[in-house]
Amino acid sequence: MNVAIVVAAGSGTRLGGNRPKQFLELGGVPIIIHALRQFERCHAINEIVAVLPAEETAGFLSQAKEFGLEKLSRVVAGGPTRAQSVQRGLAAIGEAKLVAVHDGVRPFVTSAEIEDVLQAAKTSGAAILVAPVADTIKEVEGDRIVRTVPRNKLRRALTPQCFRFEILKRAYAALDQVEADGIEVTDESFLVERLGIEIVTVEGSARNIKITREEDLALAEAILESVIRGQ
Ligand code: C5P
Repeated sequence: MNVAIVVAAGSGTRLGGNRPKQFLELGGVPIIIHALRQFERCHAINEIVAVLPAEETAGFLSQAKEFGLEKLSRVVAGGPTRAQSVQRGLAAIGEAKLVAVHDGVRPFVTSAEIEDVLQAAKTSGAAILVAPVADTIKEVEGDRIVRTVPRNKLRRALTPQCFRFEILKRAYAALDQVEADGIEVTDESFLVERLGIEIVTVEGSARNIKITREEDLALAEAILESVIRGQ
C-alpha cells in the first residue's frame, strides 16, 4: 500500500489574484487536478491525501471525483509552513509502505517518474526526483561572491520525494524542534538527511516545473501544449 501526499495549502500570494495558484486553470483544468491525475494514473499508488487551505477543503473531494480522481481518499487542511502541511498529511495516513510527497503546483510530473522514484525508494528506503542545474551557482554574502559551487555536483530537488512510511514519520518527529531553531524546511529529504539515511536521486524531466511566479504560467501553458501535441 503506497500513499501520495499532495501538498497544496500555500496561499500563493506571489502570483497575486484572489485564489491560490494551485487552483488557477491550465487548459481549463485546475493545476492541482493536473498534478493529482498523474498520481491517479500511477499503478504503484493506492491512495492519495490532498492538503489544501482550510477554506478550500469543503467540497473538494466531490469536485475531484468529477475529474475521475478515485484514489483521493482524504482532504485535510494545511498548516502555516509547507513542512507543517506535509505533517498534517502524514497524520491522516493510517497504514502505508511507501509515502510519496508532491507539490500540488507541479502539474507536469509524469506517472512514469512517480513510479521510478517509488521503485527506487522500495529498494533503498528513500529516493527523490532531481534535475541538473543549468546556471553556474555562486555562494554570496550580501552582494559579494564567496565562492563558485561546482555545478556538476549540484542537482535541483524536485518532487515527488518517496520514503518508507516509518522513515518519513521519524524524520518529521524532529520538525517542531528544527523550525523552532529557525531553520526553514523546504523539502522532505532535508529532514531525512538529518537522520543519516542515504537518499537515492532519480533524474527527472526539466518540465516538472514548480508554478510559483506570474511568468511560470506562460511557461506552463507552453509545456501543456507540447504535452498535448505529444512532444
Ligand atoms: O512554498 P512553496 O512554493 O515551496 O510551496 C510548494 C508547495 O507547498 C505548494 O504546492 C504549496 O501549495 C504547498 N504549501 C503548503 N502549505 C504551506 C505552504 C506551501 O501546502 N503552508
